[in-house]
Amino acid sequence: MKKAYIISTGTELLLASTMDTNSVFLSEKLAELGIRVVGKSVVGDNKEMIRKAFETGLDVADLVVSSGGLGPTLDDLTKEVACQVMGCEMILVEEEATRLREYFERRRKPMPESNLKQAMFPPEAVIVKNEMGSAPGMYLNKGGKTIVLLPGPPREMMPMFVKEIGPLLVRDVGPAADRVLMRCIKVIGPGESQVDEMLAEIIKEPRGCSLALLAKEGEVHIKVTAEGENRAGSQKILDEVCCRITDKMGDYVFTDNEEDDLVTVTAKLLLNRNETVAVAESCTGGLLSKMLTDVAGSSRYFWGSVTSYSNEAKELFLGVKKATLEKHGAVSRETAAEMARGIREKAQSTYGIGITGIAGPDGGSADKPVGLVYIALADARNCRVKEMHFAGGRDGVRMLSAKTALDFLRKSISGVK
Ligand code: AMP
Ligand code: MG
Repeated sequence: MKKAYIISTGTELLLASTMDTNSVFLSEKLAELGIRVVGKSVVGDNKEMIRKAFETGLDVADLVVSSGGLGPTLDDLTKEVACQVMGCEMILVEEEATRLREYFERRRKPMPESNLKQAMFPPEAVIVKNEMGSAPGMYLNKGGKTIVLLPGPPREMMPMFVKEIGPLLVRDVGPAADRVLMRCIKVIGPGESQVDEMLAEIIKEPRGCSLALLAKEGEVHIKVTAEGENRAGSQKILDEVCCRITDKMGDYVFTDNEEDDLVTVTAKLLLNRNETVAVAESCTGGLLSKMLTDVAGSSRYFWGSVTSYSNEAKELFLGVKKATLEKHGAVSRETAAEMARGIREKAQSTYGIGITGIAGPDGGSADKPVGLVYIALADARNCRVKEMHFAGGRDGVRMLSAKTALDFLRKSISGVK
């Protein structure tokens, strides 16, 4: 598998002002092409630092991909330094100079002479057009190494990579690209370390695959990459390892399709059965309803919800009994169950979900601490309630509550206890 090194340049990336999102995007895209990212650097607009980063990249990888520093100003140094490191002279490319002049004419602006820097390239480089801005990118193969220079603004960098650079990499840096296959198995329930433990045997002996675990908002994504002798070989390896993983993870797995998430998976289950759900939310403040309605066409399975924060709202809209609230409190197994049953009855839906808990930071007590959440799921036959203890601050508790409720529904529809 070919190796890549990513460099993000820009002093703003070292301060708190701009987050380096480009390297995250590039990591993902390179992995999709079957290229392994072995390291990355974030450096300021500083010649020495940029030079060191390129030297390191060329030392450890076959391919160096950088973003930023292709503009016309004095602090845009990437191309100049990269060409020096590669031992390439830059010349003024007339065609590019004309294109730049026209770019400014169309905008009725005079072109500062400094912009001509953007028309300087080594003769052996591929000049990569930038449909979203004035700075072209650059692609260069020399001495068995490849360098790719991309503009910094993500809205210019991303389409340039997808449209122009990807195909060049498939052509030159393959053939791994069409041999390497990937799949993402997504689980919910166990944390990252638990997944790691459950898959220890497979991780120790992956048989031609590499495994990466990614913890993401209450989920763990298991990324599997297989590289065999040819595509069919990779497919066989991938199928085998994924089968071993799903055997171990069982019902925690909610999809092995990269495109799907917990909501789309649950939505498909409901749609296939012509079933509907209605939701009564307290501590999640409508978050579960938002998640359900993030999917277009959700009205076919989502009846709607009541966000009942006060006791009064719980009684008035959901029919929770005053006596239940007085005896057990708003955050209780009993209240959650009455919320779920109440909304299901009002909506005449297949399922009713009730969520009540303490999201914090205040409002906890010794017997009802922050993070305690009751999630109830009612159907025609019964109503089950889960008691959960979440950590992660107010946002974390809300997010985990909504996701756990979705997962409760998913499992229930799939017949998992
Ligand atoms: P430049 O091409 O260096 O002039 O970058 C222009 C702008 O692109 C910067 O001011 C940032 O807003 C953005 N930018 C540059 N590098 C990155 C990066 N690695 N991640 C996200 N945004 C970036
Ligand atoms: Mg910059």
